[in-house]
Amino acid sequence: MAKSKYEYVKKFEQNDQCLMNCWIVIRIDGRNFHRFSDGHGFEKPNDQRALQLMNKCAETVMKEFTDIVIAYGQSDEYSLVFKRSTTQFSRRASKLVTNVVTLFSSSYVFYWNQFFPTQELLYPPMFDGRVVLYPSEKNLRDYMSWRQADCHINNLYNTCFWCLVKQSGLTAEEAEERLNGTVSSDKNELLFSVFNMNYNNLPQIYRKGSVLVWERVCDINDKVQEENARKPKRQIVVHHTDIVGDTFWSEHPEILD
Ligand code: ATP
Ligand code: ATP
Ligand code: MG
Ligand code: MG
Ligand code: MG
Ligand code: MG
Repeated sequence: MAKSKYEYVKKFEQNDQCLMNCWIVIRIDGRNFHRFSDGHGFEKPNDQRALQLMNKCAETVMKEFTDIVIAYGQSDEYSLVFKRSTTQFSRRASKLVTNVVTLFSSSYVFYWNQFFPTQELLYPPMFDGRVVLYPSEKNLRDYMSWRQADCHINNLYNTCFWCLVKQSGLTAEEAEERLNGTVSSDKNELLFSVFNMNYNNLPQIYRKGSVLVWERVCDINDKVQEENARKPKRQIVVHHTDIVGDTFWSEHPEILD
């Protein structure tokens, strides 16, 4: 197409290409989900349906952008990691983050009814998104550890908080006051001695969050698979496992390739 005299305005665009060799992490987080979860009757502290819906959205994004090698989610947030060699959208940060966050948001609405069949979606939810680059294996693993530690800290606090409110009848302010200054062992002890609850027996999805990775699967019941045995299918698998220690990473070496 012939260029118009207006074409020069394109030169005002910022070059936001992500530095090569770095893992590109996109973290999205629900806007004001404190209010959203209240308004839509989420069970407290952990609504299974909401967590499964978040996982479905992350899976949808991973299937569209197959250079995402791992995604980690908890609460209203998800971190999606593009492999360090990706050339998706020429590594342009704004393209990457906007495509990921809009597909995630539209999936949240698109699949809402599947997970909340009896709860009407009352208004359009929003998610923010940011891009962070990690140049070393250590930095990337520390990032993932940071998010999983955050999941644990929040979940332990929220579990105590909602026990105090729901079972002991404290107000939100009283429960907050009661937990003020307590350390992790105090909270475990409170759950154990007052609420007869062993924190470590709570479902892993609440304590560890969700880890989505691509894995090769060979389903021997699948005829087509048998014929294609030489090229096993890649499939997204959900784990609720520790990603701080070395075990997970040595079992999934391709993430750090
Ligand atoms: P911001 O816009 O700053 O992110 P926010 O209200 O979303 O504000 P967050 O720190 O992101 O604040 O916390 C998300 C909140 O959403 C949690 O505190 C919790 O109240 C609620 N929430 C998210 N997921 C769930 C869930 N699966 N079950 C119950 N509540 C949830
Ligand atoms: P990219 O992902 O690069 O943006 P694209 O297919 O979206 O690829 P665009 O240059 O954005 O390419 O063009 C959008 C295309 O969408 C148009 O070429 C046209 O085919 C289609 N389209 C958009 N709006 C309409 C509309 N209102 N009626 C008919 N076709 C439309
Ligand atoms: Mg926040
Ligand atoms: Mg939020
Ligand atoms: Mg959050
Ligand atoms: Mg277009």
